[in-house]
Amino acid sequence: MFLTIKNLTVSIEEKKILKNFSIEINKGEIHALMGPNGSGKSTLANVLAGKEDYRIESGEIIFKEQNLFNLNIEERAQLGLFLAFQYPVEIPGVSITPFLKSSISSKLKTNGKDEIDHLEFAKILREKANNLGINSDMLKRALNVGFSGGEKKRYEILQMSILNPDLAILDETDSGLDIDALKIVTEGVNKLKNKNNSFLIITHYQKLLDYVTPDYVHVMRDGSIVKSGDKSLASRIEESGYKFFWIYGSSTDIY
Ligand code: ADP
Ligand code: MG
Repeated sequence: MFLTIKNLTVSIEEKKILKNFSIEINKGEIHALMGPNGSGKSTLANVLAGKEDYRIESGEIIFKEQNLFNLNIEERAQLGLFLAFQYPVEIPGVSITPFLKSSISSKLKTNGKDEIDHLEFAKILREKANNLGINSDMLKRALNVGFSGGEKKRYEILQMSILNPDLAILDETDSGLDIDALKIVTEGVNKLKNKNNSFLIITHYQKLLDYVTPDYVHVMRDGSIVKSGDKSLASRIEESGYKFFWIYGSSTDIY
């Protein structure tokens, strides 16, 4: 198993947010995690990332045979975990190109590989950026400063394609991803996916799943997964809404 989360219970300020949460993700799979607001989706992403505001009550997360709780944010990234929101902040004075180069250098170093030289990196960056419709002017700008929503998404996907992670977690927070941004994200995922990497796409809405086809869909409620299935699960939720789904969808397998 690539990623195993087993009976994870997490609390914040004495309140349990994740309750016995379990999931297994294999290499080459795309999993979608859905659920209404407040069900704990972002908390899961934050805990995977290694944010420290949470109290781990019980359970474990094993990624590539390593216990993630023994690794900090940086070490998790170097192991091949990518969180789309990891660097969403604006960093004036830090321009994109050296930032991406240092991210990739540190990953190569951890894996005992040779450093990439400037010319080679510049070539790869240009190619990938070109593929994503990012012009060379953007590569000279400071990290996220003054980026539009769409540019932030493009940059996020560029970062993902440069780092080429083994497991990418995309928390598409419900704050109005417009259709263009949605396409940028999903096209990026479709270009990057292969039999050796996996994606966990977190979304409130089914819309995102019109553009990327998950192998599994999980529905979360109140801190745990209450239902797993294939992509038809997502359309059933879209049709009926979560409320109806709780009453009818989760109690029977045939709908
Ligand atoms: P989702 O991403 O599914 O909308 P979240 O993981 O953001 O859900 O939140 C799950 C629950 O945890 C909510 O009830 C939310 O109010 C609570 N919560 C999240 N972060 C905090 C925090 N920093 N302090 C207190 N409660 C929090
Ligand atoms: Mg959220």
